[in-house]
Amino acid sequence: MNPQASTAATSTATTTNKKVWVDGQLLPADEAKVSVFDHGLLYGDGVFEGIRIYNGRILKLATHLKRLYAGAELIDLKIRQDIDELTAATHETVKANGLANGYIRLVVTRGGGTLGLNPYLCDKSVTFIIADTIKLYPQEMYDHGMAIITAKTRRRPADCIPPQVKSLNYLNNIMAKIEAIRAKVSEALMLNHRGNVAECTGDNIFMVCDGVLITPPLSAGILPGITRGIVIDLARDAGVEVRETDFTLDELYAADECFLTGTAAEAIPVTKIDDKTIGDGQPGPISLRLIEAYRALVTNAAPED
Ligand code: PMP
Repeated sequence: MNPQASTAATSTATTTNKKVWVDGQLLPADEAKVSVFDHGLLYGDGVFEGIRIYNGRILKLATHLKRLYAGAELIDLKIRQDIDELTAATHETVKANGLANGYIRLVVTRGGGTLGLNPYLCDKSVTFIIADTIKLYPQEMYDHGMAIITAKTRRRPADCIPPQVKSLNYLNNIMAKIEAIRAKVSEALMLNHRGNVAECTGDNIFMVCDGVLITPPLSAGILPGITRGIVIDLARDAGVEVRETDFTLDELYAADECFLTGTAAEAIPVTKIDDKTIGDGQPGPISLRLIEAYRALVTNAAPED
């Protein structure tokens, strides 16, 4: 096993001078704490967002907050702050940590409760915001593509937990991630219970077949990725036909190109899946064009909406 397999979204900084926002207060990192009775910890009961900062701008902050509040509503979790307060708090946290580039983790937990499941016995939700640096996948993977495996662990069906809830319970993804690490690759593809391609443990997936960009629909049980949305828009703007449709692993093996999208990974080409080479084994032209367009968009003037 290689526990060091490359990953994105790894914090690199120490806690020295780091400030964490907790329900209205900016605290030194080592004083920012939640209770051991918090149901976020006891049951993974809560929601979160991972957000990027590029050149002082917070990419799609409003869209991330919209997903956070929508997810909270679906699990009947009341966020104590309104969207304007959390927008201001996110900016404040980034500023307090002196970050022009980095990664934000915004978390809302159910709060402290009893040892039973009942969320309505929890005191009140807890909101905290961490802003940190980020370690990307190695540049070589962006240039030459990454290898992934297909996990035996299936993506949880949409009628278990709505996939649009970015919940604190990531055990389903973690089981698949363990398979990836054991196979010495960085990501694992998860199929859904129907046997169709769903998504990776922390990224959405796209393939290119005969010039058409294809990605699983939300009904495949995937997180509606914000990066996925940006890339679909970029592709349409560039005149590339986009289809959101189910496909199988065999269809993916036969694709001309494949890439993944996620806030931490951005857009990254995949050139090998299991023992199958994708296309000619090099990142394809449509993938490269979209990866470049994504980088240009986020580094020039990242839209905050
Ligand atoms: N799928 C899963 C399971 C994720 O956890 C993530 C985010 N890490 C994504 C897809 C990508 O979503 P986004 O582009 O909003 O980061």
